Order: sequence, then structure tokens, then C-alpha cells
Amino acid sequence: RAKQKSRGSISIFAPEMDQQIRDRRVLHQDLSMAIRNGELSLHYQPQAASGATIAASKVIGFEALARWMHPMRGFVSPGEFIPLAEESGLIVEMGVWILREACREAASWPVPMQIAVNLSPAQFMHGDVVSLVHSILLETGLAPDRLELEITEGVLIEDFDRGLALLRRLKALGVRISMDDFGSGYSSLSYLQAFPFDKIKIDRAFVMNLGRNPQSAAIVRAVIDLGHGLEMSIVAEGVETQEQLSFLSDEGCDAVQGYFLGKPQPIGHYDALVGRSAAKGVESERKLASA
Ligand code: C2E
Ligand code: MG
Ligand code: MG
Ligand code: MG
Repeated sequence: RAKQKSRGSISIFAPEMDQQIRDRRVLHQDLSMAIRNGELSLHYQPQAASGATIAASKVIGFEALARWMHPMRGFVSPGEFIPLAEESGLIVEMGVWILREACREAASWPVPMQIAVNLSPAQFMHGDVVSLVHSILLETGLAPDRLELEITEGVLIEDFDRGLALLRRLKALGVRISMDDFGSGYSSLSYLQAFPFDKIKIDRAFVMNLGRNPQSAAIVRAVIDLGHGLEMSIVAEGVETQEQLSFLSDEGCDAVQGYFLGKPQPIGHYDALVGRSAAKGVESERKLASA
């Protein structure tokens, strides 16, 4: 009977899996066209120095987050298309577009805010990421100290020596490196000691549970102390409430990011923060940046 059941479940699930594979194949074909068709864009989410309230938390920069507007399916989340782009190698081409677009955008801001860009593992380990960053900085005129590259620990697990060499060479360009989603994977303390991160981003999962779960509060506190001990600055991701902001600010967390402070939006939404009030201002600033 059990046998029959399991055989039954195979015939039930197999067609669905076929469908999933077909879907992925089609999505992958579409993704390879997405850049050319102008379907990719970037949204920007503010990062602020922690204060006790929103008003007291001064915006210091933005994280660029990729968005794909598919002509038939509508909005496809980066959680879905970034892994697909990774597997197929498309991420290399896509990553070039993302980095260039983010740097070009930030270089045009009248107020020299920081810009953080996510680098995926394939991009980091298989492309020539150092030359890429270097040439995009030159091309866009963005000051290296305004650029921050976010990487996840998965990148470093693959090849420790190569990872360390790349981080050192990137840092030699003058850009900063942050460890994204800290605590979400197999983060090991030895990584923090070995790799020259400037910043640690505490994963949203811990921030989400602040106030609900004393263990999360203990972990967040410990990561803040640990990071500071290693002379790294700490950003909390996914801050959604005043209570979370108060806790983080009280505990000395350096910066915060999350819906409570601002959602990822097209940059036009944040024109005032980047010092842009009129289209005219944009033009003169672009000229300035390219001069
Ligand atoms: P991430 O780098 O950790 O980015 C933070 C994610 O958390 C973003 O999701 C952001 O929209 C979301 N978020 C921010 N604040 C809050 C909050 O208060 N509450 C909740 N519930 N969520 C919040 P998003 O934009 O869907 O991106 C997901 C992931 O996809 C990113 O995680 C990153 O790993 C990847 N990704 C996004 N854009 C890029 C990109 O340009 N290149 C690469 N390689 N990966 C990207
Ligand atoms: Mg990130
Ligand atoms: Mg993150
Ligand atoms: Mg994340």
C-alpha cells in the first residue's frame, strides 16, 4: 500500500516538475533579453545612521536593488531571477549593467551619498571583478570611497584564498566591502577575523524577532560588540518598527535599513535626499560629474 502511494506521488508530481523546468527555461530565455529590452531597473533603499527616531536617523546612502519588469508576468522578484542568472552565467553581463547603472546614478547626485551594490557569488568568483569595478569607477567618475560592495559569505566558502586575494585587491581600489545577511548562513567567526570587511549587515531574521524573542536581542547585541571589536561598522537590515529602531540605536548599532525608514523605490522618490529638486539640477550635476 505504501509502495502504491509513493508510486502514485511520483506520477502526480512529475508533470509539475516538468512544468517547473519548462517555466525556468522560458524565464531564462526571457532573462537573456531583459537587459537589451530595458526591462531591468534599480530601486534604491535608504540606509541611515541610527537615531532614536526616524527624524534623528540621518540618511547616509542607498542600497541598489535590481528589479525585473517582465512584459507578460509583470514584476519578477530578484529572489527568483538572480539565482537563475547565477546558474546560467547571465549574472556576469547583468552584474556589469547593475554596477554601471548604480555608479552612474550615484555619481549624478548633488549630495555625495554612499551607494551599496550587491555582488553575487558567480560575479565575484568567476568574472574579473577587480578590473570591472576599477573601469566602472573611472568611466562614471564615482569616487571609490562612495562605493560599497555587498557580498554574502557563500562567496568566500567556495575558495578562501581567492576570496581573500580579491577582497584585498578591491579594497586597494578604495571601495568598501560589507558582509551581507550576516548570521543567515554558515557565517563563521573565523571569516570575520580573516576577511577585511568594513561593515557587517545583520540579517533581517534577527531584527524581525527583536522584542519577540530574547535570543535575537542577545545575538544582535553580541554581533554589534563583536563587529566593533574588529573595527567594523554594523548595519541592521529589515528594520520595520519604532521599537526595533530604538533598540538598535540604544545598543550602538551604527546604521539601519528597512521599510520603517524607507522602502526600495525608483530614485525619483528620493530626489530630495540626494539633493535633487529640479530636472535642471540633474543636468548640471551630470555635466559636472562627466567634466
Ligand atoms: P539583500 O541584499 O539582503 O537585500 C535586502 C532585501 O530585503 C531586499 O529584497 C529588500 O527589498 C528587502 N527589505 C529591505 N527592508 C526590508 C524590511 O523592512 N522588511 C522586509 N520584509 N524586507 C526588507 P529584494 O530587493 O527582494 O532583494 C532580495 C535579494 O536579492 C537581495 O537581498 C540580494 O541578495 C538579491 N539582489 C537584489 N538586487 C541584486 C543585485 O543587483 N545584484 C545581486 N547580485 N543580487 C541582488
Ligand atoms: Mg544587500
Ligand atoms: Mg541583506
Ligand atoms: Mg537578504
